[in-house]
Amino acid sequence: MPVFRPEEFVSSEVEKELLAKLKSEGKRGRIIAGGTGFYELARRGYIPEVKTIVSIMGLNLSYVRNTREHVAIGATTTLQSLLESQAVMEPGLEAIDDALKEIRPVQVRNVATVGGEICISVPIVDLPTALLACDASLRIVSEKDERTLRLDEFYIDAFLTKLRYGEFVKEIILPKPQNIEGKSSKRASAFLKFGRTAYDFNLINCAVMLSCELSTKKIQKIKISLGGIKRTPMRATEVEEKLENRRPEENRILESVQASFSKTNLLPSVHGSNEYKHELLPIIVRDCVMKAYDRSLQNN
Ligand SMILES: Cc1cc2nc3c(=O)[nH]c(=O)nc-3n(C[C@H](O)[C@H](O)[C@H](O)COP(=O)(O)OP(=O)(O)OC[C@H]3O[C@@H](n4cnc5c(N)ncnc54)[C@H](O)[C@@H]3O)c2cc1C
Repeated sequence: MPVFRPEEFVSSEVEKELLAKLKSEGKRGRIIAGGTGFYELARRGYIPEVKTIVSIMGLNLSYVRNTREHVAIGATTTLQSLLESQAVMEPGLEAIDDALKEIRPVQVRNVATVGGEICISVPIVDLPTALLACDASLRIVSEKDERTLRLDEFYIDAFLTKLRYGEFVKEIILPKPQNIEGKSSKRASAFLKFGRTAYDFNLINCAVMLSCELSTKKIQKIKISLGGIKRTPMRATEVEEKLENRRPEENRILESVQASFSKTNLLPSVHGSNEYKHELLPIIVRDCVMKAYDRSLQNN
């Protein structure tokens, strides 16, 4: 196995210094935040090329700003701080609250950061699935400039994102649900995870964001995102189309999910075969849609 032998650890309170260092190091440099996943990547021999570890923990990026238009989350905000903030209690952002509670043990939530949870890019994590359903975008900085990328454009493959050498994620932006809906409908979201035990990583997770028309109780718009069934989080757009403009019917949800995913192309793991995941997926999606739908009626 390739051995991880870092030569330098760089930390600073000055963003420009860290960005310059990252640029000059190219693929030899790598960000560290909470370090919970970094350690695993190093131990398993996945990042032998890394010689310079660049910590962004001194940059004062631990905040949750709740404005009228959006919620802005600093990249080094810990999962526990986000969970304790009022922002994820808002109608429409409940999926994020649900997902954070499923990340256990609490010792991990106290150390792991929102940016690290997104950038590690592995199919077994939970928060990115919820952020995807909630339309999250990322503010990405480099020495030269800054760009914003939607989360649904960020992932290429497991361990691979659209981040370039010299860049890091500085902030995560969530649009406020009440600003993108009319008064005649209500939004709500939900997240569900299925793992072998309550403390395990997921086999499958699902997040749903929907708006419900109040007079007819029909689903107007729905977004369904899934984790653990492909190498990156993904939207179930085929299923979404079949559920819009009608009240949710449990059998219709089960059948649409079964028809949209073939038994052979789900991501198998030692803990769950293709066939097992294919049986499980419709149930998780149905329960998650119904959870979000019931919430939207309660939010009324
Ligand atoms: C025992 C254990 C159980 C866990 N269980 C779960 C679980 O059930 N569900 C779940 O979702 N998660 C779980 N996690 C957490 C998850 O696996 C990751 O370890 C964690 O989210 C990484 O966050 P971090 O801040 O520690 O990132 P780090 O370990 O510091 O970094 C991880 C990766 O992201 C990159 N990175 C970090 N921040 C940035 C940034 N701002 N910009 C660019 N790149 C960046 C790093 O270069 C590195 O490649 C668990 C972790 C442990 C140790």
